[in-house]
Amino acid sequence: MNATHLEDRARLASRALVGRYYRELDSDEFRDRKVVYLYTSGSIAELFRSFGFRIVFPEINCIHISRNNAAVEMIHHGEALGYGSHICSYVKSDLGLMAGPPQGQTPFGKIPKPDLIVINHTGCSTYIKWAEALQREFSCETRIVDVPFIREEGRTEFDHQYVRSQIEELIPTCEEMSGHKFDPDKLREILGLTKETIDLWMRLLDYGKIKPSPFDGYFDAVSYLAPMSMWRGTQDSVNFYKIVLEQLEERVRNKYSPVGEEKFRLLFDGSPPWPRFREFRKMFTDWKAVGVATTYVRIVCACEELEFGPDKPIDYLASLATQSYFNWNHMKKLRFMEKLARDFDVDGIIAHSVRSCKPMSLGQLDLRSYFAGEAGIPSLFLDSDMADPRYFTMSQTADRVSTFFEALKISKKHAAGHRVV
Ligand code: SF4
Repeated sequence: MNATHLEDRARLASRALVGRYYRELDSDEFRDRKVVYLYTSGSIAELFRSFGFRIVFPEINCIHISRNNAAVEMIHHGEALGYGSHICSYVKSDLGLMAGPPQGQTPFGKIPKPDLIVINHTGCSTYIKWAEALQREFSCETRIVDVPFIREEGRTEFDHQYVRSQIEELIPTCEEMSGHKFDPDKLREILGLTKETIDLWMRLLDYGKIKPSPFDGYFDAVSYLAPMSMWRGTQDSVNFYKIVLEQLEERVRNKYSPVGEEKFRLLFDGSPPWPRFREFRKMFTDWKAVGVATTYVRIVCACEELEFGPDKPIDYLASLATQSYFNWNHMKKLRFMEKLARDFDVDGIIAHSVRSCKPMSLGQLDLRSYFAGEAGIPSLFLDSDMADPRYFTMSQTADRVSTFFEALKISKKHAAGHRVV
């Protein structure tokens, strides 16, 4: 079935939710609500949702700025404020937007200034410096939830209690700023919707195991990700992922593949280069290659079974904060990637290193060496940036992608020959 015969309802629904999110952020209806800034990995947004805060995710704004081709302009504003080339391009883009001439005005809406910044410090120390710069600019309240790095196979009881107590300590601040008393039943209800959303999301990602995969578990999945951060804990996010699953079911019935005929199955590690998203995707589509799985989308919510449910709301929030993939040690990530590669039966792995994000890129060359060597899974290392298009070289990247697929084609043919013998 031709791609154009199937309407991508999920993409339209996602676009509608993103549009509404930005409209509501700046609407008169919600103007009296305080604004909290949060980071996406290990998010505890539901706590603030239960108090009625308007929630801003600076990283998500940066993704939308990048996809709207406005990143270079914002990054220039950030550099004019003195943030150098070695600084994360999301940070420069956001500070350029908020503290530079645009004063929060984006092509998709105006971003309100923060009253409170909560640094859910999960896997990235840049979050702290970023929040400090925003605090200097806006003289807002700032709090930190320090989430310990997962050093062993899983988090310890101490890790859990440490994060749990910090979340509890946030409650008086939320009460004072919002003017509302803490309502555990309301939080439970919101977290019930979060659990439903996450369950649907995990089911959705598993569709990449089907052959042919009915969607691209990298390029499509990242496009379905925004409601997970922006709307998690609402009926809207539940409804959205139900629409996506319905669409995927329909595609499975029609044996639909987003590349027409699936020839290669890939596992992607790392963020896409958002400003060059289409060109980047096309490089793989041209080779009939589908990203059936990715680690990147597993940053925003825990990808393991959690010990607690919404009935214990603070424990559940602490589990969500501590069990993000982003916070895992290198060996745990490696084992997880290998499991994904086997479970999704991939032909190769693409490690896309983004120079801005050291926490995401650190160790990717070692991962590539391990997979290409010991694990025997062909792997390709590419590098550019997730937001700054100045670091994306089209011809060089395209050459490396072509060389990789030429070699993969030969090794697949060889393997098929051996199977016949
Ligand atoms: S370094 Fe990576 S995780 Fe940290 S703020 Fe930048 S993009 Fe986000």
